[in-house]
Amino acid sequence: MSLTRKRVLVTGGAGFLGSHLCERLVREGADVLCVDNYFTGRKDNIAHLLGEPNFEAMRHDVTFPLYVEVDEIYNLACPASPVHYQFDPVQTTKTSVIGAINMLGLAKRVGAKILQASTSEVYGDPTVHPQTEDYRGNVNTLGPRACYDEGKRCAETLFFDYYRQHKVQIKVVRIFNTYGPRMHPNDGRVVSNFIVQALRGEDITLYGDGMQTRAFCYVDDLIDGMMRLMATGPEVTGPINVGNPHEIPVRELAERVIRLTGAKSRIVFRPLPQDDPMQRCPDIAMARSVLGWEPKVALDDGLLQAAAYFRRMLADSREREGVTAG
Ligand code: NAD
Ligand code: UDP
Repeated sequence: MSLTRKRVLVTGGAGFLGSHLCERLVREGADVLCVDNYFTGRKDNIAHLLGEPNFEAMRHDVTFPLYVEVDEIYNLACPASPVHYQFDPVQTTKTSVIGAINMLGLAKRVGAKILQASTSEVYGDPTVHPQTEDYRGNVNTLGPRACYDEGKRCAETLFFDYYRQHKVQIKVVRIFNTYGPRMHPNDGRVVSNFIVQALRGEDITLYGDGMQTRAFCYVDDLIDGMMRLMATGPEVTGPINVGNPHEIPVRELAERVIRLTGAKSRIVFRPLPQDDPMQRCPDIAMARSVLGWEPKVALDDGLLQAAAYFRRMLADSREREGVTAG
């Protein structure tokens, strides 16, 4: 193996975003170490990379220290869907906070650059719209989303303290709703829920009146933005919003999914979960000027890609069930 290969650690590398990131880094010739405890990640997501000489997977929980030698760290380890991060809220906070301390300690020891996958959830239910990076947010510290929101906010604080106190080279990206192939089919996020429901011909579950808004970014665009941020010089720390500013009501997403999949599903209304933000949309002026980045994939195109993935997945699982039954 070449001694000049960049050694890159991706925590949460077997998850939705992490597996796409590992794939891109492997393709670009980096020496990639994927670390994951498989809480929401799946080995299937990285199975196609296991034969690559510049890819390695390690089962490890980031709440425990990790001793490896790397040049760059992408810290993505943390369940991201409300259903998953609320399943064990204490562990969610530990993963964000202790995980950040461990990965920052590693970066400090080996002199690595480190990028934190932060989130639009640091803005909570925002009173500034669209959200700019200088907006400080409106988070309910006591609610069911706080384990995630406050964990991520504390991780940002830790990143900036390690930057000021220990001169660690940090990058903080605030990711807005991202979707695409390899989302977990049962993770409860809106895009996977709607597509899987449509493909199964089930009712589409719209929470509240569906007039709450989100802006959806296709995974390839997001990974591109994240890698551009990592490639910036030490003066760029972020936080930088990366997301697609095309904002739509969730109800419109349901209608689009029905149209694009040709499903016969009906829309049914369910209660809006507590603290569900009423609107969310990134201001990406900073990403445009600092990273020269903006999203390229149109929503319908991305939804079709995601639907094709879930269609294959459902067909495979039907086939497996058939084999077992037979
Ligand atoms: P995901 O759940 O698919 O991936 C998270 C990965 O982290 C999983 O593979 C999981 O097994 C792993 N993990 C969880 N706890 C861990 C621990 N203690 N130790 C090691 N690994 C652990 O979610 P995702 O959508 O790929 O999100 C990746 C990152 O991006 C997360 O940090 C998330 O907060 C952030 N993010 C994602 C979105 C989005 O829309 N997808 C939006 C904002 C922020
Ligand atoms: N949502 C919905 N039906 C679902 C799942 C989610 O209407 O089956 C709504 C949810 O209430 C929220 C939006 O879709 O308003 C996005 O939810 P998601 O869990 O994907 O991410 P969030 O942006 O809330 O973190």
